[in-house]
Amino acid sequence: MDLAVLQKKLPEMMTWIEQTLAPHRATARPVADLGFPRLAHYYSAPLLGGSRVILVDECPVPPLSRMGLDGFEDFENLHAAGITYGPYFFVRRECAHDESLHFHELVHVVQWAHLGPQKFVMAYALGHLAAGSYRQNPLEVMAYDFQDQFDRRALAFDAGGRVRTECDRVVPELFKHFGL
Ligand SMILES: [Zn+2]
Repeated sequence: MDLAVLQKKLPEMMTWIEQTLAPHRATARPVADLGFPRLAHYYSAPLLGGSRVILVDECPVPPLSRMGLDGFEDFENLHAAGITYGPYFFVRRECAHDESLHFHELVHVVQWAHLGPQKFVMAYALGHLAAGSYRQNPLEVMAYDFQDQFDRRALAFDAGGRVRTECDRVVPELFKHFGL
């Protein structure tokens, strides 16, 4: 995968995200309204109020191979339980009550907000390519590690703050790795 190709496709990806979210914006529900008891021990009230969930049968994934981007096949074929685009995330209907999954997607909400949309998408794509798989993508490793702490019922911690600190550590390294 040529880096220049990836950068050139960024606007197309952003447009796809915009069009995918558009029909759901009005009905997406704030996480704060979903009645999860533990999320507030890890995320701030503004974050939980501003992050919105869209329930779907299948989570929409950008058609990267159709856009001419290779190397993301496992990501495209994930049948993910959840996927995040900015402060919005899609959740498969049968996972609507899965608090741990919502915790995981909120890590991505914080990553998006902290990095900004363009930089998030670039970092996520480069992370995937560097690691060679969805699960080893540093931005996913971060989400799964924090989710694991949540699942093991770790004492309350500032997940938002810790995600931002981790992004500042991991993302510049990643960009440097690709000469950016
Ligand atoms: Zn994830």
